[in-house]
Amino acid sequence: MKGGKLIIFAAPSGSGKTTIVHYLLDQPELNLAFSVSATSRARRGKEKNGENYYFMTVSEFKKHIKNEDFLEWEEVYRDNFYGTLKSEVDRLRAEGKNVIFDIDVVGGLRIKKKFPEDTLAVFVKPPSVDELKIRLKKRSTESDDKINMRIAKASVELATAPQFDTIIKNYDLDTALKEAYQLVKEFVDPQHQKPTNTKKNGKS
Ligand code: 5GP
Repeated sequence: MKGGKLIIFAAPSGSGKTTIVHYLLDQPELNLAFSVSATSRARRGKEKNGENYYFMTVSEFKKHIKNEDFLEWEEVYRDNFYGTLKSEVDRLRAEGKNVIFDIDVVGGLRIKKKFPEDTLAVFVKPPSVDELKIRLKKRSTESDDKINMRIAKASVELATAPQFDTIIKNYDLDTALKEAYQLVKEFVDPQHQKPTNTKKNGKS
């Protein structure tokens, strides 16, 4: 696989990873493009097909599994399939873009394993599971049942954090955004140096 780099943001639902990913996509110098996943879950709120997800039925999704069209896929919640289409990533990389993913921890680690050199895998850590519950309730896009399903999964997901290249603690959003920007900038543009106190020309 040729082209740009792969940047994965994975975390339990409600950790703020989507906010971080959108912020990074707004920084043109990072040359990022969002990998639109396929899903069999129902559309939420103002979500658009082809923009947030490629929405499809369970049977359409299963057809893609059979055709080996996915780079990775997961039944993240019961009957809710999510997957990264090979065609999506190939297309964006062929355009010379760095591809950014907002996916679950298992899928994220799978992509990292397939392309270890080209991938930066970032885990976004929420302050606590209780805080996650508060954030998901505030978002009020899901029923209590669905929120509980996401919370139950969160502890398992948190245990995978050490397998990622790096962990960002999202306790304060501004700090998390700055940290995420710095990490991605250094990964996509290794010439880029962090500002230091060293004066130009080595003169002191
Ligand atoms: P949501 O339903 O809130 O949009 O997403 C639920 C979970 O599925 C999130 O953790 C999200 O990052 C993850 N997800 C989204 N797309 C993919 C994908 O292509 N593959 C995998 N493995 N997980 C995904």
